[in-house]
Amino acid sequence: MNVFVIGGGASGLVAAIKASEIGCNVTILERNDKCGKKLLLTGNGRCNFYNDFQSIDKYHSNNIELFKNILDSKKDEIIKFFNDLNVVEKNINGYYYPYTNQSITILNALLYKLEELKVKIIYNEYVTDIEKQDRFIIKTNNNIYYADKVILSTGSLSYKKTGSDGIGYKILKKLGHNITDIYPSLVQINGSDNYYKKWNGVRSEVSLTLKSNNEFLKEERGEVQFTDYGISGICTFNLSGIVSRELSKNKKVTIEINFIPWFNGNKKDFINWLNNKNKNYTVSKILDGFLNYKITNLILELLNIDKNKYLKDINIDELVDKLMNFKFNVLSTKSFDFAQTCTGGVYLNEINTNTCESLKVKGLYITGELLDVDGDCGGYNLSIAWMTGLIAGENIKSIL
Ligand SMILES: Cc1cc2nc3c(=O)[nH]c(=O)nc-3n(C[C@H](O)[C@H](O)[C@H](O)COP(=O)(O)OP(=O)(O)OC[C@H]3O[C@@H](n4cnc5c(N)ncnc54)[C@H](O)[C@@H]3O)c2cc1C
Repeated sequence: MNVFVIGGGASGLVAAIKASEIGCNVTILERNDKCGKKLLLTGNGRCNFYNDFQSIDKYHSNNIELFKNILDSKKDEIIKFFNDLNVVEKNINGYYYPYTNQSITILNALLYKLEELKVKIIYNEYVTDIEKQDRFIIKTNNNIYYADKVILSTGSLSYKKTGSDGIGYKILKKLGHNITDIYPSLVQINGSDNYYKKWNGVRSEVSLTLKSNNEFLKEERGEVQFTDYGISGICTFNLSGIVSRELSKNKKVTIEINFIPWFNGNKKDFINWLNNKNKNYTVSKILDGFLNYKITNLILELLNIDKNKYLKDINIDELVDKLMNFKFNVLSTKSFDFAQTCTGGVYLNEINTNTCESLKVKGLYITGELLDVDGDCGGYNLSIAWMTGLIAGENIKSIL
C-alpha cells in the first residue's frame, strides 16, 4: 500500500514510522528543506514531550468526550515508543524531556527510525491540493503524486515560519470537512491599560482569575512575566485560548491578579494581618517585604497613596483590593505568529477516533494540530501529536 504523509512535523513523523512498520510503502512530503522545524523549538529547545498528569481537563475541544477515546487508548504508549527509539527521558515533576535536554534528540530519533525503515522523505514539496478519485491525487508546487492513502499532518496556523501556514484547513474544507473557527492559543496577552511600562520586566508568582463579562472562567497560579504590552508566561498561556474565544464573542474579558497568593485567607484576614504590622512602618516598607518594588510603586501610584504614609492613614480596603483583585483589562492575544498552538480545527466528530480516518473521505487520515483539540502548556500538545500520529499510522491498513 502506497501511503503519503503530508508534513514532516511531530505527528507526521510518528504516523510515517507506524505505517511503515506495518508494511506500507511510505513517502513524506515536507515543504521545508528539513523536518521538524517546530519540534526543534519546543520547550525552549529542550522539548517537553510528555506529561504524567494526563487528565482530560488539560485538553480543550468542542468534542472533548471524543478526544477522551484517543487519550485513553494511547497515553500510556508514548514513553515506551520513544524508549524503543533509544531516547532516554528525564522526568521533572511529571514533565518529560529528553535526558540530553535537547529537542534534536527527539527529532533525530524519529529520523533515524525513518531511515532504518527506508521511508522516503521528499523536501521542498509544498502540497497545494488533494483530490480523491480512485486514488488520491496530491498536487504540489512541483509535482503530482498518486497515493492509496494519505495522512494529512500539516499542522495549524501557529508559528508560520516553521512551515504550518493553515493550508491543511483549506485542503480539508475543499474535501468536505467542517472546521471550527481557529484562534491562537498558548500565547501572550495584550492589555488595554496605559501603565505596563511600569511593571515591565517583573516576574512574580501570582494567581490569575479569568472572567468574561464578569463571569468566572478559569484560575491559574504560577509565575507571570509582566511586560510592556501586558502579561506572559505559562499561566498566561494557559488562559489565552479561552481569552481568544471569548473576545471573538465580543465579551469583556478581564484577568484579576492576586499578588499575594501565598496568603491563603480572605480580604478581612489580610487586613488584620496588615494591621498587626509595626505601626511605625510606612506602606511601602510593608509592601516591599512581599512585593516586587515595581509592583509596590505601581499600586501606590494607581491608588494615589504617598509611599511614606503609615498604614493607619490610608484606605486599607482599597489597598487590599488592589493587591488581591488587581484588574487587568484584556485587549487581545498576540497573533498566530507568536502562538505555540491553535485552538480549534477539524471537528472530532468528523473523524473516527479509533483510527483518525476522515468520516468524509475514505482513506484520508488527519493528525496533530489540524484536529480540534489543543492542550495546556506542559507537553500536552506534543502528546496530541504523538497519540494521533500513532493511531493514524497503526490503523492505516484497515481495508482499502
Ligand atoms: C515555540 C513553541 C514551543 C512549543 N513547545 C512545546 C512543548 O514544549 N511541549 C509541547 O507539548 N508542545 C509544544 N509546542 C507545540 C507543538 O510543537 C505542536 O503542537 C506540534 O509540533 C504539532 O505537531 P503537528 O504535527 O500537528 O504540526 P507541526 O509540528 O507544525 O508540523 C507540520 C509540518 O507540516 C509541514 N507542512 C505544512 N504545510 C505543508 C504543505 N502544504 N506541504 C508539505 N508540508 C507542509 C510543515 O513544514 C511542518 O513540518 C510548542 C510550539 C511552539 C511554536
